[in-house]
Order: sequence, then C-alpha cells, then structure tokens
Amino acid sequence: MRRGLAAGNWKMNGTGASLAEIEALTAAHPDPSVDILICPPATLLARMSDAVAGGPVATGGQDCHAAVSGAHTGDISAEMLLDAGASHVIVGHSERRADHHEADADVRAKAEAAMRAGLVTVICLGESLAEREAGRTLDVIGAQLAGSLPDGLTGANAVIAYEPIWAIGTGKVPTIAQIAEVHDFIRSALVERFEGEGDKMRILYGGSVKPTNAAEIFAVANVDGALVGGASLKAADFSPIIAAL
Ligand code: PGA
Repeated sequence: MRRGLAAGNWKMNGTGASLAEIEALTAAHPDPSVDILICPPATLLARMSDAVAGGPVATGGQDCHAAVSGAHTGDISAEMLLDAGASHVIVGHSERRADHHEADADVRAKAEAAMRAGLVTVICLGESLAEREAGRTLDVIGAQLAGSLPDGLTGANAVIAYEPIWAIGTGKVPTIAQIAEVHDFIRSALVERFEGEGDKMRILYGGSVKPTNAAEIFAVANVDGALVGGASLKAADFSPIIAAL
C-alpha cells in the first residue's frame, strides 16, 4: 500500500564528476517499482535536477531555512530548493541537530517551510547511544515526534526517517527487533496524531544500510525504505539497495 522509497543523502560529498553516478543509477533503474531520491549538496542540486529530469530519480535538499528569503548568510530556503528542481528536503538530520544546534522547534519550523513551498519533507529522528543504553529510546523518539512534526502532515507531503545516531556511518546496525520496535512505535504515534494520513506516511530506516543488509531491513513491517548515506554515493552500491526494496 505504501510505495517504497530509497533515499540517498550525499552529505558534503560530490562534485560535477559525481553526476556520472546518477546517469548510471538512472540507466540501471529505467522503470523502478519504488521511488528513488538523491539529496546532493546544494552546489550540485540544480545540475543534478536537470540531469535526471523526466526520469525515475527525484532530487532533494539536505536542509532548508524556515524563512522564504532574507539576511541569512549561507542559508537556503525551501522555495530556492524548489526553484533548483528539488521535490524533497531532509530536515532534522542528526548531523544538523548536533553541528548546527537545531532543536525540535527549529526542525518543525523548517518542515513547515517545506510544506509551504510544496516540497516533500523527510523529517529525521533518532536516539544517541547513551539514550539507547539508558533505555530511553522510545521516550526520545516520542519527544522528537511531538516536537519536530508540524500539524498538517500527510502521506503525500511527509516522510519520517528513523536514524539511530550510533548507527550512522559506523557500520553498526540495530537488531531487526530493535528496528521493528521503533518503527511500530512511530507508526502508532503517526496514526494517533494524523489518523489515516499517519498510516500513509513512509517511515524510512537509516544508519549503515548496505547492499548486504538492505533486504533483511526492508522485510521489517513499517519499514518503507531507507535513508542511505555512504552507500548512496556510488551507483554500484545504491543500485542493489534499490533492487532489494
Ligand atoms: P550512513 O548515513 O548510511 O552513511 O550510515 C545515513 C544517514 O546519515 O542518512
């Protein structure tokens, strides 16, 4: 019922030469049964969007400012991402929450800006290792859901990404039971708050997803796809992840 979504987050990686990876990815998946999204660095967004136009790969930003325009040096608005060809934007990634001190209220304002601009928002949540070891995972995720998600989200304009911070870029992956527990918890919270739309929202797992573990993770109920960092940079790695979904 929910269409799978394989999303790649290139983070601060990629130059013009990397567009060859997108050509290879597009060629490998001419008619995919799932949605494919790549979020390149902002410097590549317009070029990548032009390169994939009309094909199966959508593009997105990795962050947006909450305002439409103004005196915010170095920032980019949701409207600018749309103008550059993006259809999606990631907000609340744990690296932004940590490096740029973004709190739940900031993430919520960014998600509202994305909705206003007509972008699909990929809202990221996840616990730290200390929080998991203290048995606080569901409390933390519950608070992030309550604080980071604006009203008015639907299955069409929002995607939730569960990314345990300790699994990002580390090669460590939660057990299947741990992934299932959190995804079921998120689904219940979404349905409670957004009713039928909460059932339609895709929930992605992120954190060290690789070709070797993707199928096992995608088999979990309420895992509707993945948000992939390192393994999304090369078509040879991302392509089998897409195929596993
Ligand atoms: P990773 O990153 O796949 O490199 O662990 C995931 C993410 O941060 O979205």
